Amino acid sequence: MEQLSFEQGPIRPPSEARSLLLRVTRSCSWNKCQFCSVYKSSKFERCTVDEVKADIDTVVEIINSVKAVSWKMGLSGQVTPQLAQYFFDRPGYSQSFLSVVTWLYYATHAVFLQDANNLVLDADKLVAMLEYLNEMIPGITRITTYSRSQTAARKSVEDLKRIRAAGLNRVHMGLESGSDKVLKFMKKGVNAEGHIKGGRNVIEAGMELFEYYMPGLGGRELWREHSIETARVLNAINPHFIRLRTLHVGQMLPLHEQVQSGNFKLRTPEEIVEEIKLFIENLEGITSFVASDHIGNMLQDVEGQLPQDKQRMLDAIDRYLDLESDERLHYHVGRVMGIYSGVPDMALPRARQKVEETIDRLKNQYEDGLDDVLIQIHDRVMR
Ligand code: SF4
Repeated sequence: MEQLSFEQGPIRPPSEARSLLLRVTRSCSWNKCQFCSVYKSSKFERCTVDEVKADIDTVVEIINSVKAVSWKMGLSGQVTPQLAQYFFDRPGYSQSFLSVVTWLYYATHAVFLQDANNLVLDADKLVAMLEYLNEMIPGITRITTYSRSQTAARKSVEDLKRIRAAGLNRVHMGLESGSDKVLKFMKKGVNAEGHIKGGRNVIEAGMELFEYYMPGLGGRELWREHSIETARVLNAINPHFIRLRTLHVGQMLPLHEQVQSGNFKLRTPEEIVEEIKLFIENLEGITSFVASDHIGNMLQDVEGQLPQDKQRMLDAIDRYLDLESDERLHYHVGRVMGIYSGVPDMALPRARQKVEETIDRLKNQYEDGLDDVLIQIHDRVMR
């Protein structure tokens, strides 16, 4: 039984950490974005309906075998912490087997379809996969996928409605920017109009839409246009969620070469916070929830429901921008250490003391100043 395994891809959104991960395509059908290296070494493939059905059958076998052990242990088929530990303590179970154990334990009834652009599948095939999933594993309440906006823009709303009816009810889209200039430079393969059409199609089909905005992606040259145009495009879409995910240029990214050659100039963390302020100021007439929960964001407390929390989010940004330079340095250290997620955390005495001790240690170690060291640590944390 422990040999049972099925295919899973490399990534999922943070909100899908407790979902069952099931792969229906491999890699990304576009794979050209300058700021993304996730799938650069892999070839795009559509999984066949038979392959996906075979994986679903394997998941069912795993569920049955986990429940059989539960009954044997007198746990009435429940997946308790004790039962989950039983499987994790024994060698030989595949990663995918253990992921099903975790999924049963958390009982989220949520499934995430991998990889990067599953709406590229023919609608009939995707519907067949979804129907089989719901037939074989009853009780699933949420099925989510990533999709490119350009792909969703090309799909008819009728096809998207059929996919929705078969169970796919949430889509994550990397909007990144609403500026045509930024999108072109970054080789995103879509323009602002395509973003709006793709996003609106998904909403019209009755699915929940998460859009990702990437602060920093306009660089020094286009940051203002990047903020304002991204807000304009999101105002036209009105997605359910807007997630902030700050640009990080790791060495594996094609964009890294542009930075090295001087073609793309990075903004500082402080400048990126100013950019986010301009972005939030320009969000108008929408009812999205804004989340800043990624580890690489400087301020994680810029979060709330529009329109009522807009001023609260701007206040959170101003609290940071109003800090004196030594307090800002203090905040950066605490942020990099994962102790602070917003400026109010600096008032917590024990947290503050821990950060101050670290700063004293670093000051002794790096007499020439902390700024470069902090940037390096920040880069490491973001990687
Ligand atoms: S579409 Fe998404 S997954 Fe594909 S290259 Fe661009 S950012 Fe990466």
